Amino acid sequence: MFDLTGKVALVTGGNGGIGLAFAKGLLKAGAKVAIWGRNESKNEAALKELAALDGDAAAFVCDVTNTDSVATAFAETMERFGQIDSCFANAGGSGARGLLHELSADDWSAVVDLNLTSVVNTYQPVIKQLIERGAPGKLVVTSSIAAHLGIGNGAGYSATKAAVSGLTRALAVELGRSNIQVNAVLPGFIETEMSLKTPQYFQDSARRRTASGVIGTLEDMEGIAVFLASSESNYITGQEIIIDGGQSIFPM
Ligand code: NDP
Repeated sequence: MFDLTGKVALVTGGNGGIGLAFAKGLLKAGAKVAIWGRNESKNEAALKELAALDGDAAAFVCDVTNTDSVATAFAETMERFGQIDSCFANAGGSGARGLLHELSADDWSAVVDLNLTSVVNTYQPVIKQLIERGAPGKLVVTSSIAAHLGIGNGAGYSATKAAVSGLTRALAVELGRSNIQVNAVLPGFIETEMSLKTPQYFQDSARRRTASGVIGTLEDMEGIAVFLASSESNYITGQEIIIDGGQSIFPM
């Protein structure tokens, strides 16, 4: 079970944080892994970490908000690996923080581009090649429990993370007959470069509201990627899978 030998996985934002954890899990389960990120030196550093796991991985420079950049990275990935079986649209970020009525139109567009349009940009060529190959496939977006919670000063983040859940359900239906499963992973507070930039009170509150009293680690994220890329999850589609140590069900 959970063997990904012969499969190729693409992870956007795979050069750090949760994306790199996904890439490590996938590689350990036998998949070949392509990571996409904007920063070449982060890509190189991540590849070194992946090389230590003895798998076949490659990194490609890509800005997922830009369709030309995605087209280039997609072509390079296909040339290197010949196929993409699972796609983790994980790149994302908080966008500008602040009260909604004080955000500029550019701030708003930027967070929509980063967390929603980027997923569409990434999924489109991947879906086309899966359908052309007649191959089964897996699409997974990294959403957030912010999709369900009211995060003050973060409306753009909450709204775009909720939007990708809608996208997930629509695509699950649209692609079900093509044997492509589409799901969303909703992490709670996981220790990464992005989350450690949030205010201390926010981090303390996240920790207090987990059932165990500890916040999530990157190792906690590896297994879900393997499960959702494997045939063991074939009857799961259109779902939001929450990985938050109980943060979103904690009573107070
Ligand atoms: P990090 O900041 O550690 O990583 C973000 C990754 O996304 C980097 O690899 C970065 O690479 C990449 N990235 C950002 N913008 C772009 C872009 N335009 N094009 C391509 N790659 C891009 O953050 P996390 O690992 O914490 O976040 C990963 C995902 O998890 C995000 O979608 C985030 O919203 C979500 N999430 C995180 C939580 C947490 O607690 N950490 C909780 C819930 C959800 P580069 O800089 O090279 O472009």
